[in-house]
Amino acid sequence: MPRHFLIMGPPQAGKGTQAQLLAERFSLLHLATGNLLREISQEHSERGRKVSDFLARGEYVPDDLVTNLVIERMNAHDVLLDGYPRTVAQAETLEDLGIRVDRVLVLNVPEADLLQRAAERLTCPQCGAIFSLTIDPPKVPWICDVCGNGLAQRLDDAPATVQHRLKVYVKRSEPVVQWYLSRGLVEFVDGRGSIADVQSQLVAAVAVFYVAARPQESPDSVALGVGKDRGN
Ligand SMILES: [Zn+2]
Repeated sequence: MPRHFLIMGPPQAGKGTQAQLLAERFSLLHLATGNLLREISQEHSERGRKVSDFLARGEYVPDDLVTNLVIERMNAHDVLLDGYPRTVAQAETLEDLGIRVDRVLVLNVPEADLLQRAAERLTCPQCGAIFSLTIDPPKVPWICDVCGNGLAQRLDDAPATVQHRLKVYVKRSEPVVQWYLSRGLVEFVDGRGSIADVQSQLVAAVAVFYVAARPQESPDSVALGVGKDRGN
């Protein structure tokens, strides 16, 4: 039986990085709905045009269309879902289709920490590299390590914007989290630590699904099965 995990977290909480690392570690297909829809929108097909229209209008692609695209892509892989299910209706649809979600990994980062991270974030307008004034500063102040361009702070890292995005996220995700909570499937992960700290919590949450099933495959992840990943 393929395993299905879902990762959720507030905007700019590092979900993308964490999801990518986790997917590599357990050979999960990282199914980020945003990327999937952008990819489909490039297709020269009826559905490509349809998706492209919704994206161009800034509208959500309808549930049934997204569901079909996601399920087609899941195709018996072990999957890390990212961005789907986005609503309770979508979660119910998955369940109705007999597609079980094994664990919902919810990254928790308090608003104050998100605001601080945003205030410290420096972005390279040239190559997109991201630095932090305190955690991961560039070698030369305000100069990109990668391409030498000057660094800038982004407008959407302004406090009011961060707070608004967080409010939208909470309003949208809360019902989905509650729905999975009522099924006992949610694992809350403290998203405040270093990338390695947060990753080790996620690895521990996912590894329990693999230890018993195929201990011979990855001795590394077996050892980490009960959260012994500290200091790694
Ligand atoms: Zn750069």
